[in-house]
Amino acid sequence: MTMKTPLEYVESLRAMKVNAYVGAEKVESPVDHPAIAPHVNTVAKIYEMAQDPQYKGLITAESHLTGREINRWTHIFMSTDDLVRKIKMLRLMGQATGTCFQRCVGLDAMNASYAISYEIDQAKGTDYHQRFKEYLIYVQDNDLMIAGAMTDPKGNRAKSPSQQDDPDQYVRVVERRPDGVVIRGAKLHNTGGINSHEFLVLPGTGLKPEEADYAIACAVPADAEGVTMIFGRQSNDDRKLQGNCVDLGNSRFGIVGGEVMVVFDDVFVPNERIFLNGEIEFVGQMVNYFATWHRANYGGCKGGNADVLIGATAKIAQIHGVERNTIVKDKVIEMIHLTETCYAGAIGASASGYALPCGSYMVDPMMANTVKQNITRNVYAVGRLAHDIAGGFVATLPEEAAFEDEEIGKWVTKYHLCNEGDDVMERVHYGRYIENATSVTTMVEAMHGAGSPQAQRIVMLGLSNLKGKMAMAEEVIEGDSDVLGLKIRGRVVSDKADTND
Ligand code: SF4
Ligand code: FE
Repeated sequence: MTMKTPLEYVESLRAMKVNAYVGAEKVESPVDHPAIAPHVNTVAKIYEMAQDPQYKGLITAESHLTGREINRWTHIFMSTDDLVRKIKMLRLMGQATGTCFQRCVGLDAMNASYAISYEIDQAKGTDYHQRFKEYLIYVQDNDLMIAGAMTDPKGNRAKSPSQQDDPDQYVRVVERRPDGVVIRGAKLHNTGGINSHEFLVLPGTGLKPEEADYAIACAVPADAEGVTMIFGRQSNDDRKLQGNCVDLGNSRFGIVGGEVMVVFDDVFVPNERIFLNGEIEFVGQMVNYFATWHRANYGGCKGGNADVLIGATAKIAQIHGVERNTIVKDKVIEMIHLTETCYAGAIGASASGYALPCGSYMVDPMMANTVKQNITRNVYAVGRLAHDIAGGFVATLPEEAAFEDEEIGKWVTKYHLCNEGDDVMERVHYGRYIENATSVTTMVEAMHGAGSPQAQRIVMLGLSNLKGKMAMAEEVIEGDSDVLGLKIRGRVVSDKADTND
């Protein structure tokens, strides 16, 4: 058995001696900290579902390297079927947790490392691919959670890595030794980083010839010497410390993934964990591979999250007695339409995938970028409709304790109750879910996760074949193909010229 049980996952994290902070507080065991526990629980749910026979083949896969049954979250995409199954798995997980389940960044980073290490070896005779395969077998056999670490702090955005006032604004190699390298810098917004076993560090941007020290892809255990993790705040996170379950909205699984800044303060990385080192000409493609896979994901995970949000909104409509109102119904239809549009794109991008030189499969890049572009709008639009239908109470509810208070409990209950016999806390809980599932943290993640909207638009223009489209238009409008021999011509101006003869 190569897959961890949920408990084994949690115990394996507890056994690590990490250097982690929540706020300014040093935390010995992040797993057990109330700010982090819900995110751990979400990932534990993946481990749990992978054990369930009904999800065999969906959350599990057969390793193409060992033939062993593995968690799909450590699998290389070896067919379009694998790509489609991944999107279906993401939607299922989104439905099961109502939030981000964190493992996709590492999964896509592993796939990018697998693909690019092969291409570098083919061009340069290096042995990165073999190294990566050995690392991957270790990850698969131990069912490790890998956090993809891509986003550099970036300093002045108008300057490239080597032009920064502070050269550490992008992760770089500061020392080369016969047995490895020493890296310095930081990666931001690392989803699930604080409850992962390892970081897979990838460059975050294309590089210039003089920036070879910034061209580094490597694996670093989360408890390696010199690694510090600093947990980021989220909307309403102090509620976690109050222990107010209802006010959290999704107290079991949290809202969004739990992002962490990870600092690499002169961390040694041995050769066997280095998968790109100085080959700047492959960096752009590596970033591109990662981003393209990851952009398609959002149609799956946000689709599943939207399913839960639509359900919570429909529940509120029911409690309010307006579930049969045609205007409300039409707004719910719009939420469904926006969600399915994103999901359809993700399935389409996956089904239209193609083989890379290494034999693994890439999603259709135009569709993948379109999915993510839609997400930057549709998640907001779905949230807006949830607010519209649910009403203002999701933003003005008193805290949970008020409902139990001796003095005021009777008032807040009386004036939040819709029907005699209702449980007022049911309405409060669904309202709180909507509040938190549409919070700033959730929205900004949908906007910038897997790349900001303009990044997708640049790719879309590049892939659009605009000249080809112009040629199509010319052929239709000006062409003289005359299938039936009726002496008709495409361009009206030409007809006029003919009559003047
Ligand atoms: Fe995965 Fe979605 Fe979370 Fe990104 S936002 S890590 S794709 S669940
Ligand atoms: Fe994300």
